[in-house]
Amino acid sequence: METEGSNGAEVRQTTCCVVGGGPGGAVLALLLARKGVPVVLLEAHEDFDRDFRGDTIHPSVLELMDALGLSERLHRLRHSKIHTGTVMTPGGPLTLVDFRRLKTRFPYIMMLPQRDFLAVVVEEAARHPSFRLLMGARVEELIEEDGAVRGVRFEKDGRPHEVRATLTVGADGRSSRVRLLAGFEPVKTSPPMDVLWFRLPRREGDPEGVFGRFGGGHGFVFLDRGDEWQIASLILKGSYRNVRASGIAEFRRTLAEAVPQFAERVGLLKDWKQVSMLSVESSRVKQWFRPGLLLIGDAAHVMSPVGGVGINYAVQDAVVAANVLAEPLTDNTLTTGHLREVQRQREWPTRVIQAIQTQMQKRVIATALDPTRAFRIPLLLRLLTRVPYLRDLPARIVGFGVRKVSVKD
Ligand SMILES: Cc1cc2nc3c(=O)[nH]c(=O)nc-3n(C[C@H](O)[C@H](O)[C@H](O)COP(=O)(O)OP(=O)(O)OC[C@H]3O[C@@H](n4cnc5c(N)ncnc54)[C@H](O)[C@@H]3O)c2cc1C
Repeated sequence: METEGSNGAEVRQTTCCVVGGGPGGAVLALLLARKGVPVVLLEAHEDFDRDFRGDTIHPSVLELMDALGLSERLHRLRHSKIHTGTVMTPGGPLTLVDFRRLKTRFPYIMMLPQRDFLAVVVEEAARHPSFRLLMGARVEELIEEDGAVRGVRFEKDGRPHEVRATLTVGADGRSSRVRLLAGFEPVKTSPPMDVLWFRLPRREGDPEGVFGRFGGGHGFVFLDRGDEWQIASLILKGSYRNVRASGIAEFRRTLAEAVPQFAERVGLLKDWKQVSMLSVESSRVKQWFRPGLLLIGDAAHVMSPVGGVGINYAVQDAVVAANVLAEPLTDNTLTTGHLREVQRQREWPTRVIQAIQTQMQKRVIATALDPTRAFRIPLLLRLLTRVPYLRDLPARIVGFGVRKVSVKD
């Protein structure tokens, strides 16, 4: 329902206002809408198009999509599948992650453009009459009354708008405006690297899946995208300017030296415009909620790219939030206790995975990026790959996180 406020703003009333149409916000909006909870999803951009924003759909998200009847629709879209993650060592390839042994209908990571995933999620949400999506709606302010958040203000098509809601969810990503407006300060750790993303064609005889080549001051990770490779070049934190100053020819030379098989195609990298820089962050807010407000996904915790679990975790937050909140939102009995429960269920899996990522960054990536140190896969990791029960642990943690979640019906 829309009315006009005293300041001329269009005022829309709803039960849950979700700010940010990324994987976390879109999935939460869908899950609430299918429970009949009135929900407005606000997305700052006019479309879902975004390059290099993570196109990985993990087994846990595929199981969720299956439970919602959407997995076939996703599989009909153009995608590729990653079954293994391998590190190329001087002694030969070492497979650290093998999804094929997981007990799931989806023993792989599906590589699907994030825009296609989001399109399927919001199309499905739009089948429910309680769902509204507003694109091009960049939230600028929170509405606060009596110490509680009661909605948001934004401009759309040059006009002021307000959405008033029982609950506002900040799912607006790593630079969350909602988090800032609510006064939450993320506690940051310092990953040792940044990442440069680019693409090169895949050729016959290339390896399959994900593979990495580390050492001698460099780290490269190759993600199989069917007919092309999406490649991450790990560089020392803050060194992008220097890498660029050395020139694209030097960058090509480094890649060709690290992975000689690619020497014949590195010439296709002609310009820095083909390269996209990700400033790697890892952080977490101490408290994910205030009366009337909850943060989920990257807004609550920015994940390092190690293991590529950011989307997985954002979607799992959404599932838990919907499981815990749908009923009190429907009955109008929502308390901060419910919001605390979402944080209780999601904070420890986030802490555990961030601790694992920190160890991987220190022991694997920092060593690889230091040209003065000899690179070796840590003994513990090598042992993991040999012990029958333990060898499936990395695939389980990457594929499902440390705590499996499923939709409550
Ligand atoms: C370059 C890069 C590569 C990545 N690769 C991977 C990967 O391979 N695998 C993986 O799992 N993760 C990857 N990630 C991380 C992953 O993208 C995030 O963890 C995940 O998208 C988090 O989902 P989210 O819904 O919390 O936030 P986001 O996906 O960041 O979505 C937030 C949404 O909020 C919108 N928004 C922002 N501000 C406002 C506002 N004021 N008002 C309204 N809307 C707003 C944004 O436009 C965006 O659509 C990558 C991230 C980056 C930056």
